[in-house]
Amino acid sequence: MIDSEQYRVTREPYYRPVGDEVRLFEAAYAARMPVMLKGPTGCGKTRFVEYMAFKLGRPLITVACNEDMSASDLVGRFLLDANGTRWQDGPLTTAARIGAICYLDEVVEARQDTTVVIHPLTDHRRTLPLDKKGELVSAHPDFQLVISYNPGYQNLLKDLKPSTKQRFGALDFSYPDGAVETEVVAHESGVDVETAAKLVEIAQRARNLKGHGLDEGISTRLLVYAGQLIAKGVEPRAACRMTLVRPLTDDPDMRDTLDAAVATFF
Ligand code: ADP
Repeated sequence: MIDSEQYRVTREPYYRPVGDEVRLFEAAYAARMPVMLKGPTGCGKTRFVEYMAFKLGRPLITVACNEDMSASDLVGRFLLDANGTRWQDGPLTTAARIGAICYLDEVVEARQDTTVVIHPLTDHRRTLPLDKKGELVSAHPDFQLVISYNPGYQNLLKDLKPSTKQRFGALDFSYPDGAVETEVVAHESGVDVETAAKLVEIAQRARNLKGHGLDEGISTRLLVYAGQLIAKGVEPRAACRMTLVRPLTDDPDMRDTLDAAVATFF
């Protein structure tokens, strides 16, 4: 027997709703509809799933997808041990058996032949064939599949197939508006609201540079990092350089531009 308690979210994660995403997700879960969370990195998608799993009282199994991941990494494989061969379920199989929410983070990173294994779980069949084992797993009635997807990274070689995309309802995530993001940064990092508001303003300026030399804007996650350093006594300019500027770009001109934006506020 699998102990589903180990996947339980035991403490309520802090999540600040931005729109009606909580209500929409609840309705999607009630229909056991697979859901895609779309948005840039560090804008709250993972935190949202953790919060929803807690709110719905479901265990949560998260898989960070990467290009080396094979279908067996999701579904399971035979292992050799002293007594011969033993089957070990992968995380997707475990989630389907115990009725967890399975969150495949950055699913576009996985190869397309890996992604197709989720297809039979996302339609009326709600099954997962374990070909190597010769077993057809019927998903637990409470099982739900959630994936995240960063539209910014998509290119022709690396995108979800339309046949995969069209199996999900989708919720758009983006950086929250200034007041909400300030609240999040203050809560998560421990800085006062005034400092958090300055950090958010720096990010808002930098986000305007996206596509003009920056691939991605400063994420909420990076703002939280900046706040955490400031809360630990680091001088704000140094904290911002380390967390808001250096991670984003190696281009000297762009660094100067961002450093100047920081200097306007601190
Ligand atoms: P993603 O999964 O989109 O890459 P995360 O969910 O890991 O991003 O969010 C990064 C961090 O930003 C979280 O750890 C949390 O501190 C903060 N965060 C972003 N949005 C919110 C929100 N709406 N409520 C609470 N925390 C948030």
